[in-house]
Amino acid sequence: MPSARTLLGVAGWPVGHSRSPVMHNAALTELGLGGWLYVPLPLAPERFEETVRALPASGFAGLNVTVPHKETAARLADERSPAVAAIGAANTLTFADGRIAAENTDSGGFLDALAEPPSGTRALVLGAGGSARAVAWALREAGAAEVSVWNRTSHRAADVAGAVGVRAVDRPEPADLIVNCTSVGLGGGLATEDALAALALEGIEPPEVLVDLVYGEESSPLKRWVTGAEGRFVDGLEVLVHQGARSLALWTGRPAPVDVMRAAARRDR
Ligand code: NAP
Repeated sequence: MPSARTLLGVAGWPVGHSRSPVMHNAALTELGLGGWLYVPLPLAPERFEETVRALPASGFAGLNVTVPHKETAARLADERSPAVAAIGAANTLTFADGRIAAENTDSGGFLDALAEPPSGTRALVLGAGGSARAVAWALREAGAAEVSVWNRTSHRAADVAGAVGVRAVDRPEPADLIVNCTSVGLGGGLATEDALAALALEGIEPPEVLVDLVYGEESSPLKRWVTGAEGRFVDGLEVLVHQGARSLALWTGRPAPVDVMRAAARRDR
């Protein structure tokens, strides 16, 4: 009889577009963990909790969680990291000894992708969804001098700012670092001026560094804006790779092969 595999996966609704399986399976091969497999798990919201609770008995050691399940994942866990407690959302569950531990690697993965510590910088976070919450908290924790949150629907920016202890703004203000945590640009083909208009950035100087969490497009309209002014652009795929690397290290107890994960995620573009 073949020995049972150790399973990992990503749960979302939908999840077919996710690059996590190809990225993690390349990493598992690189680590010589041939008995491990990472699978996509399309889970409707009403099935999420019961399915997750059944996963350990089916050989799962861990799970990445994406839209729309991150808040439920944080709530159902037996143990929550400080990041999960502050952000109210988890993207990584670990199953061990009959317990479920929740972590949020989106925040640390964002800082890894940024590559330079944001201490002392003025940062502007655009958006008020789960990713904006994780990024705003990460920036505050990492010592950014100022963190502002702007969102199209302003009361949601106020909610995020209040929850993570930063400032909400009615209009974007000039910043050293801007992070796009909205879905503006998703789907491709958006002109730079239309992206700037949607994000109320018209008339604002491009920042020194811009991170666009949106990924999957060949050319981000915000990339054109910032690189046109000699600024540095960080692609959302880099954030995806680093959050995945942190999750994999938690599950396997080994450093993740980041270069292999990046190459696999980019190949799948
Ligand atoms: P979410 O919870 O659905 O939030 C979407 C945000 O986008 C909201 O703040 C929404 O504003 C704003 N928005 C949507 N359409 C807009 C428009 N036309 N003009 C201005 N604002 C608009 O999303 P999320 O989960 O935080 O994710 C946000 C983006 O980041 C997605 O594209 C997602 O794929 C990406 N992401 C990437 C990574 C990564 O690893 N690279 C990780 C997480 C997320 P309202 O509140 O006004 O509706």
